[in-house]
Amino acid sequence: MLSVVVTEVYDDFILVIDAGDINHIKNAFRKVKGDKIRAVDGANEYLCEIEKIEDKVKSFVSLRKELALEEAKKLDEKRKNGEKLGKLAGIPLAIKDNILMEGQKLTSCSKILENYVGIYDATVVKKLKEEDAIILGVTNMDEFAMGSTTKTSYHHKTANPWDLDRVPGGSSGGAAASVAAQEVPISLGSDTGGSVRQPASFCGVVGLKPTYGRVSRYGLMAFASSLDQIGTLAKTVEDVAICMNVIAGADDYDATVSKNEVPDYTEFLNKDIKGLKVGLPKEYFIEGLNPEIKKIVDNSVNALKELGAEIVEVSLPHTKYAVPTYYVLAPAEASSNLARFDGIRYGYRAKDYTDLESLYVKTRSEGFGAEVKRRIMIGTYVLSAGFYDAYFKKAQKVRTLIKQDFENVLNEVDVILTPVAPSVAFKLSDTKTPIELYLEDIFTISANLAGVPAISLSGGLIDNLPVGVQFMGRPFDEGTLIKVSSALENKIGRLNLPKLD
Ligand code: GLN
Repeated sequence: MLSVVVTEVYDDFILVIDAGDINHIKNAFRKVKGDKIRAVDGANEYLCEIEKIEDKVKSFVSLRKELALEEAKKLDEKRKNGEKLGKLAGIPLAIKDNILMEGQKLTSCSKILENYVGIYDATVVKKLKEEDAIILGVTNMDEFAMGSTTKTSYHHKTANPWDLDRVPGGSSGGAAASVAAQEVPISLGSDTGGSVRQPASFCGVVGLKPTYGRVSRYGLMAFASSLDQIGTLAKTVEDVAICMNVIAGADDYDATVSKNEVPDYTEFLNKDIKGLKVGLPKEYFIEGLNPEIKKIVDNSVNALKELGAEIVEVSLPHTKYAVPTYYVLAPAEASSNLARFDGIRYGYRAKDYTDLESLYVKTRSEGFGAEVKRRIMIGTYVLSAGFYDAYFKKAQKVRTLIKQDFENVLNEVDVILTPVAPSVAFKLSDTKTPIELYLEDIFTISANLAGVPAISLSGGLIDNLPVGVQFMGRPFDEGTLIKVSSALENKIGRLNLPKLD
């Protein structure tokens, strides 16, 4: 590892990583650009911080220490030579264990990929590198992104930085914890049914799931291809906007990405929201919702009213079908996507097998964890000849109805405000049944089924545990989500993230 001389410049950087610094990325970038700080010092400072607290929080499954420092050193040389620097020059960040990076061990937190090394850069990784970001490591997640606790990871459990006995949420739990613990300012996650927004809510950070087709999925290990999107977790709405400016946009390698122009998302920050119409769907405020969480949403409603927004009650009548619809469609797609892990082409292969079939069976039995097997079995069942019409086809039809609900409501209002999750982060020791866990997704999965963008930001605390509120918006209108979230963040303030020294 490169040795770094500690100077006062170093102190400057500590100021930059302070939780109270709202212009985190912008300032860090200015400092790198303005030659006040070497990128290598910045990267090293973050790596030291990670080393100090990682034992407690365990956000990462692997670090890129040497490589990151080398890249930072090259960036410093680039600056010295007067070359143009990228939009994220010197900004340290982390990616989830299911986003490919050339030469990096990536496992989707599954035993079946325990020795897999990425053979190319995902489009988002390529874009981050082109803009001179420094990727410090790879974060923990639920196996193949199936879950909401990060407990199904093959590697280890991640703790919630607010209370180390609690889950960070999932499946992008490592990503959310890494930002909340201030190990990195930005983490990329993936969101198939809430996996960016729910951990963001549990960890008191901001998480954006873009519109389906806004960000390339090329190089994202597929869970449910018609629902998956890569999203950003950061400490502030501004940092999310800055990152979105880099990762969004058309990609020749992913035909589902829109060619729509990408606006400058930072243009939507700190704007007046007078007259903005905010819908409150009555189906989201039902019995079973923790009354304390309801209070936090009410508090945001009042803040938005004070800012001049117009609050309208709306109805998304098919909401009650969202969980069953998702848990037919997502496993169906997963069972098909995960068929490629057969012991021949990727990663783990069972030792004692007698023929090809036993190689498949043993490899998959030993390589996949319980939740992944459950989903593969559900998926295979709902797709099988005798049940296809009754389950898969029916669920596709209901998905259309859910999408139409959103189209109708978003004709009437600019954004929809809801809770993110029905509860605060649960204890690591809580043993919830699969069904109980699936029901926890009730407020987040509709956005994926409808393909609309959604953002989660902190609404407040319950017994010192963060609680997020969610805005959902029109397809490709992330701008309005950023606008309303920025206004709300300015009005109610951001949480002071916990210090884990
Ligand atoms: N909790 C949901 C699930 O288990 C969502 C996961 C995700 O968004 N990747 O499928």
